[in-house]
Amino acid sequence: MSRNDVFIVNDSKFESIVLKDILIKSGMNAIISDEHMIMKDLRNIKPAMVIVNYIMKDMTGDKVIEAIKKRFPEIICILASSSDLSKNQFIGYRIDEIIKIPVEPNHIKKMVEKYTSTQKRLCMHCKMEIEETFYICPYCGEKLKNRA
Ligand SMILES: [Zn+2]
Repeated sequence: MSRNDVFIVNDSKFESIVLKDILIKSGMNAIISDEHMIMKDLRNIKPAMVIVNYIMKDMTGDKVIEAIKKRFPEIICILASSSDLSKNQFIGYRIDEIIKIPVEPNHIKKMVEKYTSTQKRLCMHCKMEIEETFYICPYCGEKLKNRA
């Protein structure tokens, strides 16, 4: 797994290429996938982040993200849409962020930095986000590491 790898899931080749260009200029290693290939691709490469387009011909992006999170909860999942979406529309979905396309290169750069520079630590047992210093998970009580 590389913290620079980002998958793009979009059924529009043109939009994928535009986004890939922006991501590469932001120092990311962007890889184009689609809604049919993504689960297979994730078995080979574990990216830090997946950016999924909302409206696609065969499937909406929120469903794709749900499938990814079910299997790989640690991957940051971003929903991209050309219309204004709010997180409130997706209560119960594990969408980390929503971005509006076309994306501002600066905005996407900041977002990528936010998620890739602070590596989140997750409890292996309950997958809740925990602080680096914890010895016992405050959510499920699982012992996390031995004291030095
Ligand atoms: Zn836990």
